[in-house]
Amino acid sequence: MKDTFKHKGMRQQLVNTLRKKGIKDVKVLDAIGRVPRHLFMDSGFIDHAYVDKAFPIAADQTISQPYTVAFQTELLNVKAGDKILEVGTGSGYQCAVLLELGAKVYSIERQQELFKKASKFLPKIGYRAKKLIFGDGYKGLPEVAPFQGIIVTAGAPFVPKPLLSQLAIGGRLVIPVGDNVQVMTLFIRKGEKEFEKHEFGEFRFVPLLEDKN
Ligand code: SAH
Repeated sequence: MKDTFKHKGMRQQLVNTLRKKGIKDVKVLDAIGRVPRHLFMDSGFIDHAYVDKAFPIAADQTISQPYTVAFQTELLNVKAGDKILEVGTGSGYQCAVLLELGAKVYSIERQQELFKKASKFLPKIGYRAKKLIFGDGYKGLPEVAPFQGIIVTAGAPFVPKPLLSQLAIGGRLVIPVGDNVQVMTLFIRKGEKEFEKHEFGEFRFVPLLEDKN
């Protein structure tokens, strides 16, 4: 489990690729430049860690494509100290990027295997989320709300109401919405009942699944 100069060099190239693809936020690019993505991948895929692609992790899930992570993180507009909820911990990679930005991160995962793996792995490489939760992200985390930002990293067939209601005023929900293909959608809470909605391009995610536990 090493982060070598070779890895750092490859990571810098990935950052350059993301910049060319249109990611502008320097803080987001720097954060991606610091997270050792290869350590989040299964050993068979380590050589591909700094290619801008999604890859399989355990339990039939994927670690999101770096461009997608960067795009969503940019939309979230994280400031240091913000309380952020992530739905879909997966490998923990996106969580690490949020921690690099100084966020207080809560992250929910519904697959027990992935929850356990991330809970062990993240602290091992120095990433301390406020809390990793084994549960159903459709419900959000009412006991910790309101959040300055909520990021959903699986394709949502619809926008779960609890996530909107758990945003602080001025808070942002970044969520890919759709069945087979998802439209990246940003909601900004303007008031108690007032939300602004912005739509971005199409992305493909593994599905946000209804609770099976
Ligand atoms: N953010 C992850 C990407 C994980 S892929 C990373 O950086 O690696 C999406 C994840 O969402 C999967 O791990 C999947 O198990 C999880 N998921 C799907 N439906 C969910 C739900 N209802 N609640 C919480 N997590 C869910």
